[in-house]
Amino acid sequence: MKKTKLICTQCNKTYSIERVHPRCDVCNEPLEVEKVTKGKIKAGNILKQTILDRYGDFFPFLEIDRTLSLYEGFTPLVESSQLAHELGVKRVLFKNESQNPTWSFKDRGTVVGAQHAITMGYKRIGAVSTGNMAVSVAAYGAKAGLQTFILVSAKLPAEKLTPIAVHNPILIQVDGDYWQLYFDSLEMSKRHDIYFINSDVPFRVEGSKTIAFEICEQMNFASPDYVIVPTSAGGNIRGIMKGFEEFKGSGIIKNVPKIICAQASGCAPIYTAYIRNEECITRVENPHTIAHALENPYPPSGNDVLRKIKRNGGLCVAVSDEAILQAQRELAERTGIFGQPAAAVPLAAIRKLRKEKVLSGKDTVVCIVSGSGLKYMAALEKRSFKIHTCQLENLNKFMEAML
Ligand SMILES: *Cc1c(COP(=O)(O)O)cnc(C)c1O
Ligand SMILES: [Zn+2]
Repeated sequence: MKKTKLICTQCNKTYSIERVHPRCDVCNEPLEVEKVTKGKIKAGNILKQTILDRYGDFFPFLEIDRTLSLYEGFTPLVESSQLAHELGVKRVLFKNESQNPTWSFKDRGTVVGAQHAITMGYKRIGAVSTGNMAVSVAAYGAKAGLQTFILVSAKLPAEKLTPIAVHNPILIQVDGDYWQLYFDSLEMSKRHDIYFINSDVPFRVEGSKTIAFEICEQMNFASPDYVIVPTSAGGNIRGIMKGFEEFKGSGIIKNVPKIICAQASGCAPIYTAYIRNEECITRVENPHTIAHALENPYPPSGNDVLRKIKRNGGLCVAVSDEAILQAQRELAERTGIFGQPAAAVPLAAIRKLRKEKVLSGKDTVVCIVSGSGLKYMAALEKRSFKIHTCQLENLNKFMEAML
């Protein structure tokens, strides 16, 4: 590892970069890798690079094991002038994270976490997850040939179990409190030498920086005014903010965009603390939203997201399930991108924030489309689609009538 350290996001106590336990011994808040303030983008062809190659200056690894990669990242940034017009903003662009190897942004953090695990000599990795992260860690564990432990809730439906099980990890449905399971996994990690690449561990957060790096490159280093991030545990939004800050610190961009933490009203602990002007989040009892990927009732990085949003000058917002489903539909019908409900939350947030005049007609906004709609088809069960039927011999006439 390069000469750097882990720093507590609250009390600034420092720890070795080789540490695997992700939280501070003093205040139990999340740790993060010391910020990089001198770095360059490596030249070269992204068809032949991994994210760890291209942005190597911004990671603490001395050597990279390319065999760990499934060629995650380098996802498209798709602009919609039609939606910008309808929403009343200057420009709106969608960072389509569904085009990752396992169809969500989680792959970025998984490959970086796996690289740290391998560098530290671990032979086992794991994750506590209900969905996309479990699939991602199972896939990368399979690629790396590592023993992989996936701990999921006992309530997880079969639709979500199969895409994990297909990679043949040690898949355990655990009956009990999910939040407790997160902390117990940290204990298991020490006891059994398993590197849990959980939602907000420092190296997963490092992976999310590359979303910011790519947006900068794709926008010719002119930062957007806002980036809206659908937020659950808080790891991804922390990483995106850190990425912009590191590029600014390195002189690659001039401004850090304002970051918007977008949650679902049915489970919005960070938003609730934000509007009450509180420094700590309160656990949500009975969380319920169609955006299952955002259903963490007590986000482990919640307090740090509050601290960082304040420092960044950004804000928090929450949107209803109804608005989320409408946004999912708009995204599919206007841009051709089929995101899962969580991935449509930023679009729903723009509409709300524009109505409240927080956003103006001069703003350029980037939405993080965090994962694929194909992952969660059950969300569309209540929709009725218009599908025509026709006899073959009548097809010509039928189509003529539609012209
Ligand atoms: C994990 C996930 C999120 C939330 O990210 P956090 O890092 O937990 O805040 C949002 N959308 C999708 C699709 C996800 O898989
Ligand atoms: Zn601390």
